[in-house]
Formats: sequence, structure tokens, C-alpha cells
Amino acid sequence: MRGTRILELSDEVAAVHCVGALSNSYAVATDAGAYLVDAGIDPRGTAMLAALEVLGRAPADLTAIYLTHWHNDHTAGAAHLRATTPARVWYPEGERAHFTARAAAPWRAWLAAHTPELGPLSVLKGLVGASPPRAVEADAHPRHGETLPHGVVALHTPGHTPHHFAYWDPRRAALFAGDALAVCGGRLSFMSRYLTDDLGEARASYRALLDLDAALVCPGHRAPLAQGVAAERARLRASLDAGARWPWFS
Ligand SMILES: [Zn+2]
Repeated sequence: MRGTRILELSDEVAAVHCVGALSNSYAVATDAGAYLVDAGIDPRGTAMLAALEVLGRAPADLTAIYLTHWHNDHTAGAAHLRATTPARVWYPEGERAHFTARAAAPWRAWLAAHTPELGPLSVLKGLVGASPPRAVEADAHPRHGETLPHGVVALHTPGHTPHHFAYWDPRRAALFAGDALAVCGGRLSFMSRYLTDDLGEARASYRALLDLDAALVCPGHRAPLAQGVAAERARLRASLDAGARWPWFS
């Protein structure tokens, strides 16, 4: 798994970090097996299964995959993992056309099909085809505020994409934010403006996420935050309330 790092954040939570895209997906071990939040950039899901193994769980223990949004640096492994493990897949209903590779014009779909799916071209392939490299069906779609298996709460958090979901695990005080919230240099920060589809919605999503009593913030890019989270939440919340300008790059 060149270009991939597995970070053990606790006995129960591991991050799979893709060095090239700086993207993170997560594996969580629970009493009832294991779940993933996002499915990695590797279409075979190899690193996600390795992260489960680090946590003492086998592929057969994987029962749920919660996807935040369709961008393929977060979802490439989903189809293979769904096909080869017992896991059921949840993703936002509003992004179904992307997940099932029906969102792009035929010429774009053709171009994407002829772009290699590994290495740096993987992200390009996803953007051209407006879908993960392999289409994936959902077993269910999350509803805002719904409690999913393993006690995970689904939160509609638009801004980066219109239908983006974050996932909150209250038992572990862990927030899996996807691309609804950023961590830069050990601090909570705004997602870059050029990556934010709707600023007004993003502000509202930030407020909702910062109000959660999280002790571990697991973002979709860069490094998770496990130290001083309460103080960081309060600082960014105050900045938001003071009408802070949204940076183009963070
Ligand atoms: Zn994204």
C-alpha cells in the first residue's frame, strides 16, 4: 500500500491516510464488529482492511460503511468492500447519480473509464467521471439525525457538496466530519473557499458540528485532532459568530 499510512488513534479508531491526496478514511472497531467512515482511495480497499486488522477485526466483522460524499478520494474502495464483506453501504440519497456513475455526460464517462485508477490519476478519474472509479449501490440512505447501526448519528452537513453527511459517534465522542470541517496545523479551520460549494450552508454546518461535544475530530483531509478539541471548538465557534471571513485557502 504505497502512499498510504495507517494511524491508530485509539484502540477502537484508525485512520487511513493517503499521502498524495492528503485524504483520510476511518475504521472503527465496536462490540458488534466494525464500521468504516469513507472507504479510501484504493479501489480494492486494501488499506481499509489493513486498518481493521490493526484494530483486531477481520473483513467478516465489517457490517457498515458510511460514506460522507461521492468524491472518489473518499469512496473508491466502497464497491469492492461492499462486494467482498458483509458490510452494508449508506450514502446521501441526493448524490446517488454520482455514486452509481450516472451523473456524467457519456463522453466524460468514456474518458474516465480510460483513465488509470491508481496513483495521482485516481482523483482526476473521479472528477472527469463525476463518480467513484467503480459505481456503488447503497443499501440505505442516511436521514438527518438518524441513529444508524453501532450508535452512529447521521448529520446532513451541506456546504462542500449539497448533500454531504458527517457521522457522529457519541459513544466515542468522535466526529467523522468528511469534508464538512477542516483541521490544519493542529487547529480546527474552515475548508478552503474554492472547495466550498455553498458558503451559507457551510457556515450552518460548521455551527452544528462545533456544537457537538467531540473529543476526537476526524476530518476528510490532513491530520485528525485529538488534543485540546474543546478549546478549538470554542475558538472557531467564536470566530464564526464574529463573522470571520472565509479563507480561499486554508
Ligand atoms: Zn470532497
